[in-house]
Amino acid sequence: MTKKNPNILLVVIDSLRSDRITSQEYAKIPNIRKLIKEGTMFSQVISTSDVTGTCLGSLFSGVYPFETGITQTNIETSKMGFFKNLKKNNYKLFATIPKYTWFEKIIKDFDDYFMFDHTKWKEEETILGQLGNKALEFFKKNTKTEPWFHYLHLVDIHGTGSLVKVPEQFNSEEWGKSKYDQLLSATDSWLKLIFEQISLEDTLVIITSDHGEYVESDFDLRDMPNFYKAMRKLKKKFPQLTFLGEKFFLFVLNTNEKIKTRNIDIEKEKKFIPRGYTKYLFDDVIKIPLIITGLNTPNQMEIKNLVRQIDIYPTIARLANIEIDEKIHGRDIFSSIENNENEIPAYIEVGSIKPKTPGKTIGIRTSSYKYFRNRIEKNKDVFLFDLEKDPKEQNNISLDQPKIISKYEEILEKILKNSKDFSGEKISDEEKMIEEELRKMGYL
Ligand SMILES: [Zn+2]
Repeated sequence: MTKKNPNILLVVIDSLRSDRITSQEYAKIPNIRKLIKEGTMFSQVISTSDVTGTCLGSLFSGVYPFETGITQTNIETSKMGFFKNLKKNNYKLFATIPKYTWFEKIIKDFDDYFMFDHTKWKEEETILGQLGNKALEFFKKNTKTEPWFHYLHLVDIHGTGSLVKVPEQFNSEEWGKSKYDQLLSATDSWLKLIFEQISLEDTLVIITSDHGEYVESDFDLRDMPNFYKAMRKLKKKFPQLTFLGEKFFLFVLNTNEKIKTRNIDIEKEKKFIPRGYTKYLFDDVIKIPLIITGLNTPNQMEIKNLVRQIDIYPTIARLANIEIDEKIHGRDIFSSIENNENEIPAYIEVGSIKPKTPGKTIGIRTSSYKYFRNRIEKNKDVFLFDLEKDPKEQNNISLDQPKIISKYEEILEKILKNSKDFSGEKISDEEKMIEEELRKMGYL
């Protein structure tokens, strides 16, 4: 017999792209694959933004940031209905999270949590090390009181692996060509230990990510002997930009080269783009995985329908028999499919770590097209991609398709009709502190 409220394990693998799950050619992830076999995989899930805070805000509230005001620096826990409703249903709430103010704030009403300081990992260890063992112990200990909810946020692949070293046993091509993929393989092997602790009969398991990442399987910073030399030079020249990390310098270097040769073709050079700072919103960063397994979720099913990040919370809530009494933007995916409801375009925006300053690009994505442009000036930096003919988004057809542009602009304006403007509000001390922390960590 299934219990009224199942246990819920929510695994967020920070920066995990959708293609790492839908395709077999990258990392080796047998433990995640096993869950896919026993559950449902969603292959077209679109995150709200390209930075952690804004995306988690959407995940935990089911509401877009233009209404909650949740961004990379502003944490409105009162707007995160997911946790409140779990509590109302007598769930015990646990979290395993990285040590950042942002995470500490969102789990402040949890029953207990384990925090790992991965800033110390740089030269030390990954989740496979000592902290991983402690996290596992913490997890085991807290599966006793039911129903429990455990939010597990893993960051090993964040920044394409700039935070950690690849554990020796995964540091070879058989585990993936890039550091990103090797670390994903390592993460999967650790997750096995967690999955062994639960029974899919009475636990709902969700695997997703906050946003994706620009990464190429055949590309690795370690393969570029001149890169570090050039980066040191650039860092000297622009010390204030150091917080942006390796990728930003690579972006600058690469763009400089192209400008010199008058051959600027950013669309084909996505691997160099840093998240949250540009005018781009390619699927690399906003197409995320979603796997739902356990209880009565359909087995071996792939759902290709467009799903928005804000739909994940109401979907979990329905499966777990949790009522949502607040007004949200998202909808339960399974019932929208059962009822043959139409696709709803996903709203997307570039992130920002400046408090009360929204990211500079906004747009919408449907199964057919992606449209984005400058937030303030709607005719500036306009991009339109035909996702059916050009899934890699290499040809910007905005100039050839004025009709589609005006149709999509209309949809975008309709979505934003009742949006709130937070830019005039006072910046709190907490926001300033978080901004500073993010800069220091290079955490985008
Ligand atoms: Zn993130």
